[in-house]
Amino acid sequence: MPELPEVETIRRQLAPRLAGRLILDARAHESAKFASAVAARGARIGEVQRRGKYLLFALDNDHELIVHLGMTGMLRIAEPGVTDQYVRAAWDLDDGAVLEYRDVRRFGRIAVVPRGSYASLPTLAAQGPEPFDDAFTPQQLWTALGTSTARVKTQLLSQRPVAGVGNIYADEALWRSRVHPASRHVTKPQAARLHEAVRHVLAQGIDNGGTTLRDYRNFEGGRGENQFALACYGRGDEPCLRCATPLRRTVIDARGTTFCGTCQRR
Ligand SMILES: [Zn+2]
Repeated sequence: MPELPEVETIRRQLAPRLAGRLILDARAHESAKFASAVAARGARIGEVQRRGKYLLFALDNDHELIVHLGMTGMLRIAEPGVTDQYVRAAWDLDDGAVLEYRDVRRFGRIAVVPRGSYASLPTLAAQGPEPFDDAFTPQQLWTALGTSTARVKTQLLSQRPVAGVGNIYADEALWRSRVHPASRHVTKPQAARLHEAVRHVLAQGIDNGGTTLRDYRNFEGGRGENQFALACYGRGDEPCLRCATPLRRTVIDARGTTFCGTCQRR
């Protein structure tokens, strides 16, 4: 699933390609998850921003086109008339190109909403600060984690303590900060380490153009390279890079999780 570094990589490629383009026409799959894509018809695209794992396209009619890539969603520029059965939405641009949203498994989501009105997108509305904003601090993270007794990994995946972290970067950040993923209580020093680790692993992911394990491709169809930089995720049974103990693979709240049973103590 694309997480913040993958979505940010796509945003950086999309923004110069789409800024200023007029959407002449639009088509969408009838599913309620995609149907409102057609509401962008007739609008001009302004800035392309990102909030957590969501892409936000400012439209010149005081609305926003919002795209969440889900598991297998991708955006691409297609030639007119060339399409396939997995394209769930398409926007015809005034330069003759077609922006397509393709999503094999259909876990993604498209919405057109009045600017800043996210009531129909509860995860977006409730998510915590952007990890590189000043609002994301060790104290804020510690306080946010303390409002719930859910396991720390599950809290990170909820997007509420901080936006943009999914399964890969949660495992990486928890390993780096030596916090056990199933902890229900995080101390202040642990929260401070986790804060540093979240920023570190996300920044590294962006620098590497995202992580490509199966489906993720950037806007130009290329793969990321962060899969070669992962210290923990996907390395079950391989030696911990810090202490050489074989990393353990388990399931926490239904999500596959890799961690070091020696470094990451509860
Ligand atoms: Zn270790």
